[in-house]
Amino acid sequence: MQQAKRILVTGGAGFLGSFLCERLLGEGHEVACVDNFFTGSRKNVSSLLDNRSFEIIRHDVTFPLYVEVDEIYNLACPASPIHYQFDPVQTTKTSVHGAINMLGLAKRVRAKILQASTSEVYGDPEIHPQTEDYWGRVNPIGPRACYDEGKRCAETLFFDYWRQHKLRIKVARIFNTYGPRMRPDDGRVISNFIVQALQNEPITVYGTGQQTRSFCYVDDLIDGLVRMMQTDDGVTGPINLGNPVEFTMLELANLVIELTGSRSRIISLPLPIDDPRQRQPDIGTALRELNWEPRTALRDGLVKTIAYFEGLVSSGYLRPAA
Ligand code: NAD
Ligand code: UDP
Ligand code: UDP
Repeated sequence: MQQAKRILVTGGAGFLGSFLCERLLGEGHEVACVDNFFTGSRKNVSSLLDNRSFEIIRHDVTFPLYVEVDEIYNLACPASPIHYQFDPVQTTKTSVHGAINMLGLAKRVRAKILQASTSEVYGDPEIHPQTEDYWGRVNPIGPRACYDEGKRCAETLFFDYWRQHKLRIKVARIFNTYGPRMRPDDGRVISNFIVQALQNEPITVYGTGQQTRSFCYVDDLIDGLVRMMQTDDGVTGPINLGNPVEFTMLELANLVIELTGSRSRIISLPLPIDDPRQRQPDIGTALRELNWEPRTALRDGLVKTIAYFEGLVSSGYLRPAA
């Protein structure tokens, strides 16, 4: 067993953050979860609240934070388009000021720091699948820019603190990840389709449904993040983390209908502005540097995620099918 560490997880009450806190506590570490509860909630970490090694701090990362830790996972930032576009200025501040504060903290306490970056840094890509050396195609003034450019600037800050202050950094570029604990109103495609299917409501495919994404199950992704944090100091990334198996949104809609046995029909709604047409990670670097690749096929991960949402129906959090 490795030595117990004090680990800070920002955004720790969110979807990915809550699984990460659970995993790190399971390995015997002390975990401080910092969150402003914008999209996260205490409920996501309710099973951890009795653990004496777990601490939850309500705090907005755009303000300075003084704690003593050995490692920092910086996940704070709304990730779903409807949530990050709700207050776009706050989204950019969260990525940029949040990164500056967490890097300043890492510098003061000499902590190792990992940034949850995103495939959105590639924008609507001309290179397929996306490799880490691709610089991306992002519209800097569109409605997605607060997220995409905020995350790009955060990467810049990480690499400047690395060059200038010799910080130990890790930058993970996370591709679409799904699983239990996504909010029913999260707005991202997998939770939308499952909730709609369970309620026999129309499945809302945006545009033609021919756009693609590659979906990674949460357990696989968390394993990739933890492995990346454990790499030698020479490994900074960026490293793509995601499942390279690519689906169109129409294929996804049909798979969700099949797995839920739903009577839903598929309807088409307008495609959001700047919606990337295709996305698939090249995970050669993750395989080489982390000996990591995802294990969970979409069908298997969907079955587990559907079971979670069915639980919300039976416990009254979600309306049952009409
Ligand atoms: P999420 O919205 O469930 O989690 C984000 C968490 O950050 C929430 O708990 C929220 O309350 C908190 N937060 C937001 N702004 C904050 C602030 N200013 N101060 C403190 N806390 C704040 O989303 P998620 O899917 O768990 O994503 C976690 C991280 O992973 C994000 O940084 C996201 O950009 C990144 N990411 C996720 C995906 C994915 O598919 N899930 C893909 C790429 C990148
Ligand atoms: N910071 C923080 N916690 C710390 C140390 C610094 O939140 O433990 C913040 C600090 O408020 C500053 C930012 O991190 O705004 C960047 O810190 P750095 O030392 O790099 O820059 P400086 O303080 O010189 O501007
Ligand atoms: N999408 C859809 N119906 C929905 C929600 C999303 O067809 O109800 C599409 C969306 O237009 C995009 C894809 O699904 O092409 C993935 O969207 P999501 O918001 O999950 O992630 P992102 O676009 O950030 O990758």
